[in-house]
Amino acid sequence: MKIIQKQLDNGLTVLLIPIDWVHTINECFAVGAGSRYEIKGTYGISHLLEHMAFEGTKKRPSARDFAAEIENRGGGNFNAATDSGSISYWCQLPIMSLTFSSRLINDIISDEILNSTMEKSVLEKEKGVIVQELYRKIDDPRDFTQGILWPRLLYGDHPLGQSGCGAKEDIPNISRKDILSYVKDLYVAPNSVVSLSGKMDVQRVLNDVDTCFGGLSPRLPKRKKPPYEERQNSPKLSLETRETSQTSIALGVKTHPIFCDSPDWAAVRLLDNVLGGKTSSRLYHEIRTKRGWAYEVETESSFYSDSGYFMAYAAVDKSKVLESIRIILKEFQKIASQGVSEKELKGAKANIAGGQKILLDDPLAIAKGVAEEFITSREVIDFEKRLNEFRIITPQDVKRVAEEIFTSERLNLAVLGPAQLEADKLYDILRI
Ligand SMILES: [Zn+2]
Repeated sequence: MKIIQKQLDNGLTVLLIPIDWVHTINECFAVGAGSRYEIKGTYGISHLLEHMAFEGTKKRPSARDFAAEIENRGGGNFNAATDSGSISYWCQLPIMSLTFSSRLINDIISDEILNSTMEKSVLEKEKGVIVQELYRKIDDPRDFTQGILWPRLLYGDHPLGQSGCGAKEDIPNISRKDILSYVKDLYVAPNSVVSLSGKMDVQRVLNDVDTCFGGLSPRLPKRKKPPYEERQNSPKLSLETRETSQTSIALGVKTHPIFCDSPDWAAVRLLDNVLGGKTSSRLYHEIRTKRGWAYEVETESSFYSDSGYFMAYAAVDKSKVLESIRIILKEFQKIASQGVSEKELKGAKANIAGGQKILLDDPLAIAKGVAEEFITSREVIDFEKRLNEFRIITPQDVKRVAEEIFTSERLNLAVLGPAQLEADKLYDILRI
């Protein structure tokens, strides 16, 4: 797959991935912003701003105007997402003609980003939407445990510890002025990228990107991510009681500082794959397939520039909580002491390589993946090179990183479940 990299005069990076056999054009605009850049008191500003992009410009006065043009005229779809270190906006349009679709998609996305009117009354209305989105997250045991309880346990008051959705007490206080200053500081060309994939005439698309995004400020971004300093030296527990039928368990370790900017990240991903990244994984087998104790069993690994974590998640009956935690800890201990077999590692590599092939069949996923990777690493992703980073990992590498990360002092356990659970009992078994 060929990625054409260009830069506009204002410093905006443009990445083009022509794919002839598809019937769509896909665009993603990503900016180095997001919840990690927020200041206490305005937690949720990135997310609110993301929503406001669709809430009206001079040319398209309402959210409905935007949606109708994409859905009813172009026949496509659109959305946006706020992450810790990036905010992305994307659109997918079926090709009507190369000229029409390229113009429309660039016009729509640039209009959202550059021309949002941020009307006060609309802003107040949208705060209500955000609060409802937050409540949905709070009410869902899985989302709450993984997305609110877990980051708060790991990172506390630091911006990394917030949900990304926003803080209930902060959202009403975010002003139009706060948002405009956030945009001014971060929504600048050198801090952004536009990627397009799918059916295209490269020169035409480049001209349209230039026409539509040439107005983005060439200044350098003014805000920086607040640094995070690691200090954990004993196991930590967060127990939240709620009368749920299931008990949600998020149990894992901080991977910082071993894996920041280190090739060992690929070993952690493989470890993740072996332990809980698929239905043939060790934890899925032990908790669901063999014992029938859970419907959901999975693992997740995240990497930030100065921190990271590996986490196993399972939702089980309250009578199985302690045993499930013991099983997860036993699997952490087992992989650290015995490592993985050649065969198991080969399977994990094949699974990851296959996942990448599946992604490369999806032009919208390509546009999003390429843009988000560029914002995170400032590099154009090389998919083949990425696979090589996995290919070179040996069973010894996986065992070494497992030994490094799976230690008692790195452990974190977040639990959401009925009141019968006792914090002391949970804490007492937190040992590897
Ligand atoms: Zn939202």
